[in-house]
Amino acid sequence: MFSVSLCLCVKEKPVKAIVLFGSPGSGKGTQAKMLTECLGVPHISTGDMLRDSIRHGDQLGTAVVARMQSGALVSDEVVNRLVEERISRPEAGSGFVLDGYPRTLAQAERLCEWLDGRGIREVVIHLAVDYNVIIARLTGRRQCPRCGTLYNIGSHPPQVDGACDLDGEKLVIRDDDSESVIRERLAAYERQTHPVLQFFLKAGRRVVEVDASYDPPSAVFQKVSQALEPR
Ligand code: AMP
Repeated sequence: MFSVSLCLCVKEKPVKAIVLFGSPGSGKGTQAKMLTECLGVPHISTGDMLRDSIRHGDQLGTAVVARMQSGALVSDEVVNRLVEERISRPEAGSGFVLDGYPRTLAQAERLCEWLDGRGIREVVIHLAVDYNVIIARLTGRRQCPRCGTLYNIGSHPPQVDGACDLDGEKLVIRDDDSESVIRERLAAYERQTHPVLQFFLKAGRRVVEVDASYDPPSAVFQKVSQALEPR
């Protein structure tokens, strides 16, 4: 999906914490996977962690399932704890990519404290996408329940209809990808998450806006890679 030279170029960047920011369906997951493949650092997606818990039927999954299915956000306390546990692991020592976190002011403040306390430099990459494009994208989205690979029946279909290219598993539509739930997720984003961008900007943190409406993932990745250049 991306060239080796671009990948090498991304690897040389000094930023350790990459925060991928954008509304649901902005392509954060796809860009995060490309970045983590190039950099060899963990992809920390709060949505994936929560869905894993629901799949395993553990205590956390049982506690969050209703909120997630309605498109509402899970409590700050729960997600802050999940993320801190992951970014404190040794495998995150050379860096990490955050996808879907922080989503509220309380989460952003907590993350900044954590990063500042360790002298870790971050860059917030805002993937900006038109909402009509997002609704079309999300209703066509399919995911492999085993390996997490994302497809889109319009723009990135699997080779065999309904099956994952990598492991043949039957692809699924996420519960929260129906149009009414998508609208609720976009509303939650506007209400709670968009102000987080203002927080980062006001705090003088590094925020780079990338237009991700119409370009294919490889072209967006090129722009994301440029966003990692030192100021
Ligand atoms: P995502 O896959 O990132 O779109 O997240 C799917 C759902 O997981 C969201 O609609 C929320 O219910 C929940 N979720 C994921 N990340 C967070 C977060 N940082 N804070 C609160 N809820 C979250």
